[in-house]
Amino acid sequence: MERLSTLGAWREYAGSQRAAGRRVGLVPTMGALHAGHSSLFEAAKQNGDVVLATIFVNPRQFNDVGDLNAYPRTPQLDHHTAEQHGVDCLVEPTLAEMWPDYPAPTSTTVSVRGISDTLEGAGRPGHFDGVASVVAKLFAVTGPCRAYFGEKDFQQIVVVRQMVRDLALDVEVVSCPIVRDGDGLALSSRNLLLSPPARTRGLALSRALRDVQSSRGPASAQRARMRQILEESDIDVAYAEVVDPVTLVPTVDDEVGERRALLAGIIDGVRLIDNAAVFVEAGRT
Ligand code: AMP
Repeated sequence: MERLSTLGAWREYAGSQRAAGRRVGLVPTMGALHAGHSSLFEAAKQNGDVVLATIFVNPRQFNDVGDLNAYPRTPQLDHHTAEQHGVDCLVEPTLAEMWPDYPAPTSTTVSVRGISDTLEGAGRPGHFDGVASVVAKLFAVTGPCRAYFGEKDFQQIVVVRQMVRDLALDVEVVSCPIVRDGDGLALSSRNLLLSPPARTRGLALSRALRDVQSSRGPASAQRARMRQILEESDIDVAYAEVVDPVTLVPTVDDEVGERRALLAGIIDGVRLIDNAAVFVEAGRT
């Protein structure tokens, strides 16, 4: 596995792979790698791409400095995980390379209006501007590629797809399913911050999603049910929504069809998110 840290070497590596007729599969991450990340590396490998993974804890997408400082970092383990799961080139750019002016704001920000302001965006102002700006930069340095993202961060994929369309970027966005622990908890680097009892309470997120997947019913009933299940586990609910999977517009009760349920809850100061496809239909009489 090749290891790089400068934008120049990274740009050159991706260019030389394309020149040799190979397609680059970019997997952006913030490290503390787990099986959710590995599933993206493997998806890229299976598609026959040269797998280029990045690890960069992007400070511009954290609206809370405490959250940024607490974000888990496991570099030694990450190198091993990346190597074991088929990464061809691991890029770990420094903060000075990625954001030379940090902490001063950049003059140029990529802001995907509308869809960035709801759900995660509502509770974390500026979060998706930070995401879109860093992903635009990763795409700019990598050049034409396929880019792999996990549905765990469902809204992030919607934002990135919209940015790619609006800016006509030569990037094919590939979304990959959520990887869960055996008990249902969606894998997340932030799970490392949970005490065992907090982790048990966190199981309420996937339980709430499974409940509304099997109960169907109108969107308002699904929202109320998810909220109730989270509150029963003493989770501070940031949102429990049912939305259109493309526009993220909240579903109203006379709609019928496949929608997306998304949840965010705070447990002992740790923010967890999860989501699933659900089917909404008119209430039963
Ligand atoms: P992160 O390091 O949290 O920024 O995540 C990097 C990429 O891995 C993003 O595209 C995430 O959506 C994806 N990812 C994180 N957790 C999971 C998971 N449990 N299943 C699938 N993909 C995931």
